Amino acid sequence: MAPGVTYASLPANGSFDTTADTEKPQFVATATPVDAIESIKLGLQIQRHEQNGTTAKSLDVTNSAWTHSRESSNNFISDFYTKPTLPMLEAIVRTTLGDGDNDEDAATNALQEYVADLMGHESALLVPTGTMGNQVSLRTALGNPPHSILVDYRGHIIHFEGGGPSAICGTLIRTVVPANGHHLTLSDVQKFSTVRNTMYDCPTRVIALENPMEGRILPLADIQAISTWARAQNPPIHMHLDGARLWEAVAAGACTLREIGACFDSIQMCFTKGLGAPLGSIVVGSSVFIQRAKWSRKMLGGGTRSSGVIAGPARLAIDDVLFGGKMKRAQEKARRASELWVELGGKLLERTETNMVWVDLEGSGIDAKWFYPMAKNDFGLNIGGVIPQRIVFHYQISDEAFARLCDFFRKALGTEAQDTNSY
Ligand SMILES: *Cc1c(COP(=O)(O)O)cnc(C)c1O
Repeated sequence: MAPGVTYASLPANGSFDTTADTEKPQFVATATPVDAIESIKLGLQIQRHEQNGTTAKSLDVTNSAWTHSRESSNNFISDFYTKPTLPMLEAIVRTTLGDGDNDEDAATNALQEYVADLMGHESALLVPTGTMGNQVSLRTALGNPPHSILVDYRGHIIHFEGGGPSAICGTLIRTVVPANGHHLTLSDVQKFSTVRNTMYDCPTRVIALENPMEGRILPLADIQAISTWARAQNPPIHMHLDGARLWEAVAAGACTLREIGACFDSIQMCFTKGLGAPLGSIVVGSSVFIQRAKWSRKMLGGGTRSSGVIAGPARLAIDDVLFGGKMKRAQEKARRASELWVELGGKLLERTETNMVWVDLEGSGIDAKWFYPMAKNDFGLNIGGVIPQRIVFHYQISDEAFARLCDFFRKALGTEAQDTNSY
C-alpha cells in the first residue's frame, strides 16, 4: 500500500455486494467475510524442551475466544466490541520480542516507521491506549503554564479521559460550541483562541481537533484553514488530532492519511475500535516531538517491554481491515441502514457520514423503553448501551445481523406487516 493512496482507489474484495442497487437500502444476502475468520484454523506446535528430552505438543485453539467473532457480529453498541481474530493471534506468534521501551523491538520499530510514512511524518510512537496517545501528545506539546488548549465541547479528551489534560498538564481547557452545529471552523477557532500574551492571559498553545467525531467528518478544507492560521501565530499553535477513528474518515473517502497528516503536529490513532486489534494506539509527529514524547510515555507508565505483541496484530489490522476494504464495507451497511430508516419514515439526529447511524427515537415517534428491549429480545441485536440512539457498524457485523436490523427497523417504524422478508 503506497502512502497517501485513498481508500477509494483500492479494489473491494470480499463478498459484500456493492454492485447492488445503491439507491435502495435493500439488503443483498451474500456470504459474510466475517465467517471466513471463523473458519480459519491455527495449529500451534509447541516444542517443550524438558530435561529428559523434547516433547512436541499441539495446542488446539479452534475453540478458543480467538476463533470466532460471534459475540461481536450482532453488537452495534460500539466498534470497540470488535474481537481480535485468529490471524491476529498468528501475528502475535510470529512477532519479535525485543524491548519496546528501548526501541529494540523489530516489529514495533517497523510498525512505527510504517505508520509515520503513511501519515507523511518523521516518526511515531506506540502506546497502549488511545487515551494515553492523547495525553502523551498534550503533555509533550505543552510546556509551563500559563497555557490552554482549545477543543470542541463534545471532544473525547473532555468527556472520556478522566480529566487527564487538567490533571496531567495543568492546562486550562477552552471548550467551543461550533457555530454550524457540526464541526469547528476557522472562525470558531479564531474567536475562542487566546493569542494575546499579557499577564492576564492564558494563551492557546494547542488546538486539539477530533476526526471523525462521533461519526461526523471534519472537512479537510476546514482543517487546512485552521492549521494554516495556527501555524502562522507567534509562537505557532500546536495542532493535535485525536484520530482514534481517523481510518474511518479515510475509508469514507474524506481525505488521505497524508493530507490529514500534513495539517497536524501530532496525531494519535487507535488500532482497537474499528480496526479490531486487541490493543494499542500510535502517536505520529516530528523526530524531535517523538523524542520528547518518549519521556511523556515513560512518565505515564506506557512504555512496554515485548511490544511486538501489540505491533504484530496492529500491522495486520491496518492492512486487512482498512486497506483490505472491510471498514469500507461496514460503512456501506451503515449507509444502507440509515437510508432504510429514513425511507420507512424515521428521523435521524445526524447525517450518516462514516460508521455511525444516529436514530432520533423521539422524532420518529418511538418509545425508547420499547425500542432497546425489543431489539435485544426479539431480534438478537445489541443496540444502545452507554450512548443510546447511536448504532455503530464495524467489520464484524454479520450480514445476518444486518438483515435482522433491517427487519427490526421495519417493526419499529410499523411497516413490517406490509414489508416482511423483503430484504
Ligand atoms: C476510543 C477513543 C479514544 C481513546 O481510546 P482508548 O483506547 O479507549 O483509551 C480517544 N479518542 C476517541 C475519539 C476515541 O473514540
